[in-house]
Amino acid sequence: MTGLYFHIPFCAKKCPYCDFFSVPYHKETTSQYVASIIRNLAAYAPEDTVDTVYFGGGTPSLLSAAQIGDILNACAKYAHLSENTEITLEFNPTGERTQYLRDLRKVGINRLSIGTQSFSDAQLSLLGRTHRAADGIRTVMTAYEQGFYNISCDLMLACPHQSEIILSETLNTLANLPITHVSAYLLQVEEGTPLSRNTDLLAALPDDDASVDRYLQAVQTLAEYGFRQYEVSSFAKSGFESRHNMKYWKCEPFLGIGAGAHSCYGGKRFAVPKDVAAFCNSRIQPTEIIDDAPCQAQEKLMLALRMTSGAALSELSVNALKVLPRLRNAGYVTVYDDDRVSLTPKGFAVSNAVISMLLE
Ligand code: SF4
Repeated sequence: MTGLYFHIPFCAKKCPYCDFFSVPYHKETTSQYVASIIRNLAAYAPEDTVDTVYFGGGTPSLLSAAQIGDILNACAKYAHLSENTEITLEFNPTGERTQYLRDLRKVGINRLSIGTQSFSDAQLSLLGRTHRAADGIRTVMTAYEQGFYNISCDLMLACPHQSEIILSETLNTLANLPITHVSAYLLQVEEGTPLSRNTDLLAALPDDDASVDRYLQAVQTLAEYGFRQYEVSSFAKSGFESRHNMKYWKCEPFLGIGAGAHSCYGGKRFAVPKDVAAFCNSRIQPTEIIDDAPCQAQEKLMLALRMTSGAALSELSVNALKVLPRLRNAGYVTVYDDDRVSLTPKGFAVSNAVISMLLE
C-alpha cells in the first residue's frame, strides 16, 4: 500500500511564524499547477494500491473543488485506489464556505485537517492568522453538517502569552466540537521568519518549563475528552488515527507530487525543488535524491519512538539499555508488555533529548 501526497504551495498571506514552502496565491498559476499534477500522475502513478491521498500545503483549500475533483479523477484513472482510501485536505478556516465544503465532499474528500490553531481571538491575532475563533468553530460545524465525520484540528501550543487559562478555554472549545483528531504542535521560532525578529513576541513566549506544562495540559485534557495520544503531536478518537501520517512514522512508501513535495518510494527518498515555475513547466517533475538507502534500522527506531506504541527493547543498543533505567525512574519512558519501551507524555514533551539518548 502506498500513500499519495500533493503539495499545494499557495497561501493568501504568509503567517509570520511559518517557514513551510509557500508562494502567493494567483488563480492562473493554480490552473497550470493542477495540470502539472495530473501530467505527473499519468506519467508515474504508483503501481501498488493507494490507500491514502493527502492534499497538504500551503493552503490546499485555495484550489477550487473542481480542481481537487480533477486531481482525484486522475488518481482514480491512473492509480489503483483502495475501496476505503483516506482522502485528506488541509483547510484554512476563513470565510463562509458551505457550498465549497459540500462540493469537496461530493468530489471525494473524506477527511479534513482544519488549521484552527487556537480558539482565542487574541492568540490568533498574535500568531498573525487571518481567521478568528468563530471562523474555526463555524468551519468545523459546517463541515460536519456537510457530511465530514473525520475532522482533525490543528492546535498551537506554547504561543506568546498563552496562559494555562487561555489554553484551557481553547481545549474545552476544541474538544466539544464534532472532531475525531487533534494535531498539537509546540510553536517553533524558525530562523528568518518575521516572528524570529519580533522582540516583543519573543519576550512573551513561555519558557521551557511553561512550554512543557502547556504540552502536558493538552495531553491530559485531550485524554479526558477521549482523544488518545498515538504520536508525539497526534491525538485521536479510537479508530481515527491519521492513516497517511502513520506511513511517515512506519517508514511505509509514499509518493509526493508538487513543488517542494517529498517522497519515500521505490527504495529512495527524494524531493521536488521548491520552484513552482519549474514544476509547472516540466513534463515530469524534477527530483533530487536525498537518501538512496532510507529507512535503515536507526531511522526506523527513531520514528517508532515518536509513537506511543514505541519500540521493542531488542531494538535498543547496549548503551541505550544502560540509560533506560535512569529515564524510566525519571518518568520519561515506560516499559510495557515486558519487552517494549515507549515515551511517557513527560518524555514526549522533551522527545528530542530523550530519543537521542535512546539512539546512542
Ligand atoms: S497558511 Fe499555513 S502554510 Fe500558509 S503561511 Fe500560514 S502556516 Fe504557513
